[in-house]
Amino acid sequence: MMKIKVAQHSGFCFGVKRAIQIALKTAQQNKKVATFGPIIHNPQMVSYLKKQGIGSIDDIDEITDETIIIRSHGITSDDYEKLLNKNVKLVDATCPFVKLAQEYAQKLTKEDFQLIVLGEENHPEVEALLSYVDDSAIVVENPGEHFDLPKDKKIGLIAQTTQSEDKFEKLSVKLLRKYKELYIVNTICHATLLRQGSTKELAHNVDIMIVIGGKNSANTTRLAEIAKTEKCITFHIETAEELKDEWFKNIDTVGITAGASTPEWIINDVKKRIVKIKKIKGKHN
Ligand code: SF4
Repeated sequence: MMKIKVAQHSGFCFGVKRAIQIALKTAQQNKKVATFGPIIHNPQMVSYLKKQGIGSIDDIDEITDETIIIRSHGITSDDYEKLLNKNVKLVDATCPFVKLAQEYAQKLTKEDFQLIVLGEENHPEVEALLSYVDDSAIVVENPGEHFDLPKDKKIGLIAQTTQSEDKFEKLSVKLLRKYKELYIVNTICHATLLRQGSTKELAHNVDIMIVIGGKNSANTTRLAEIAKTEKCITFHIETAEELKDEWFKNIDTVGITAGASTPEWIINDVKKRIVKIKKIKGKHN
């Protein structure tokens, strides 16, 4: 009989729970509430919030709402200024760990360190972080990337909160070999580290991994990458409807993990659907 194992740490993290609670509470206490950008990177949760009267706007010029919630990934300093100049009430749901990374970026830049950020240049969290420091900051997506800086530069290294610890370690070692003065702050958040650790462990012990979460979610995408790196057949899905019967043919053990922005109800739907697929298949086999 096929076994389903769920990663010890998966699903909603502290920052996401907090942002959703803030949004729901704000909607109870205010009229015309919207988030600036999706509050978290999970389309199903964003649709759920819409049904609760909390929309999501991307263009500040189109704001007609009276209360705007700042998403968990934070926003750029420019957008913050623009929002301040609009006649709206601002509610900040930026995750405190995202804020902490911004503070370290500012501290290192002020102290004349050449800031290097391990992260995705176009991710809203990185875009926001860069907006609080000068243009000299460098974003590195992969430790193997080439960048040339004078050897006597003081280097400050931080990471997008949802980066992989392995990549961070590799980049740290690479920099240590080249530069004398290095200030490394591991800004990868604890929730990310726990989810990555349990995904890695689980991927070793199952035949296939189902990784659940927004295709636009950096931390979920990272979990899928980690499972693949462990040489486990891996599928990244957003909802149970994407599961395919053939994935479970001749499979004894399925591992399930979910990103920090994946709601519990989607994880449960996926489990139920896998059980159903196996039962149906069993009848026909
Ligand atoms: S993954 Fe970490 S940094 Fe991102 S929202 Fe969750 S707790 Fe905050």
